[in-house]
Amino acid sequence: MAEGYGVDTAFGESAISKPALSRWTGEFRDKATEKEYRNKYTHQTLKEAQFGLWVWAVLWLAFTANDYVLLGASPGYFMLLAMRGIVSACLLGLIWLMWRKPVLLTDGYGLMTVSLIAWAGYCLLYFLYPEDNLRTLLAVSIVLLVGLFVFIPNRVSTATVVAVFTVNGTVVSVRWIHDTPPALMLAIALIMLVPAATGLVVARRFQAAQRMMYALLVETQQANTLLEQEIRSRRELENELKRQATTDPLTGLHNRRSFEKHFHREMRRTRRTGNPLSLVVLDLDRFKKVNDSYGHNVGDEALRSLARLLADEIREPDVCGRLGGEEFVVLLTEAGKDQALLVAERLRTRIADTPINANGHQLHLTVTAGVAELLPWEDELAMLVQRADEALYAGKSAGRNCVRLAAEAG
Ligand code: GH3
Ligand code: MG
Ligand code: MG
Repeated sequence: MAEGYGVDTAFGESAISKPALSRWTGEFRDKATEKEYRNKYTHQTLKEAQFGLWVWAVLWLAFTANDYVLLGASPGYFMLLAMRGIVSACLLGLIWLMWRKPVLLTDGYGLMTVSLIAWAGYCLLYFLYPEDNLRTLLAVSIVLLVGLFVFIPNRVSTATVVAVFTVNGTVVSVRWIHDTPPALMLAIALIMLVPAATGLVVARRFQAAQRMMYALLVETQQANTLLEQEIRSRRELENELKRQATTDPLTGLHNRRSFEKHFHREMRRTRRTGNPLSLVVLDLDRFKKVNDSYGHNVGDEALRSLARLLADEIREPDVCGRLGGEEFVVLLTEAGKDQALLVAERLRTRIADTPINANGHQLHLTVTAGVAELLPWEDELAMLVQRADEALYAGKSAGRNCVRLAAEAG
């Protein structure tokens, strides 16, 4: 991105500012922006210039027909033919050169050179061919001036250099050959200044319009980029907020709200399909002792490890959550109480058999679990949790590290 655009990464009111154009040339004041613009449109400019140069080369040769009518197959005619051939070959050579080295075109110096060659070639012809009247000379010079500014893509600065040479050169040539009086010289100079000035103004306006369009395009692209960035960061924020709203910050498991949402979805499915739905509540045994012995950080780390273990153990459609404290819940979809008892038992033994490493301390934890299958009249998670909790407390009373099934009292 060129400096001239003054893009601010902050989403301020004037995040994008249009680059300024030169009053005289219609080009970007900022050199880097101008270079970037010319580089970007090199291919297009090249194609336009090459087309223009081809047309010039062909037109230049076409005048041989006029030469023949005037001179016939005389030595003068063949000299003219050779001269026209050389100029056209120069134009074709320049097409090739620009194709190989486009900077010659985009910098304007290539076209400046060819214009000077064309003009010099014409002046030589005029010296060799002085019978050609003054009007033809002026017409050719005017065509060259207009073509220089308008016909082929050119930079205003280099085109102006050629225009100055052309106007002065034509005036000097006329004076040299025809010994024209000063008043007529002034008239010729003024006549040539008209197309030169007109061409300059038109070219300047054209250059400025193209650059304004480019600036608008870049501005739109930048606005889009900023908008995309804004959308991306808002989406990320939204996802983060969603994640925060649904997960337990300590373990990354579902929090109560999210777990409840899953419960209601599964409950509706159960009602629809008639498949059972069960809940396992797991409470760590004598966890207070872990905190008291090793500190809260070790306790937290132990809770995280246990959450990972639970998440690894359960099937894909089942959901694991932490409702608070050191109490975990697992929702078992399409599982009746017998299957849920098996799962709870598997979880209990897995936890009891897996020593947990928390901040360098090896902990041997156990859980007591309460299992409850959803009953037809239960429509709130709290009802299911309460029955599972009661079973869990019964397990605690029975000595802990065991699984108990909830009663089905209505
Ligand atoms: P039991 O359940 O077997 O009856 O005994 P317990 O010691 O686990 O039960 P109690 O309810 O008395 O204590 C629960 C403890 O869990 C209290 C608290 O220190 C700990 N605890 C609860 N939440 C967190 C937590 O987020 N981080 C940590 N480190 N400890 C927690
Ligand atoms: Mg406990
Ligand atoms: Mg507890």
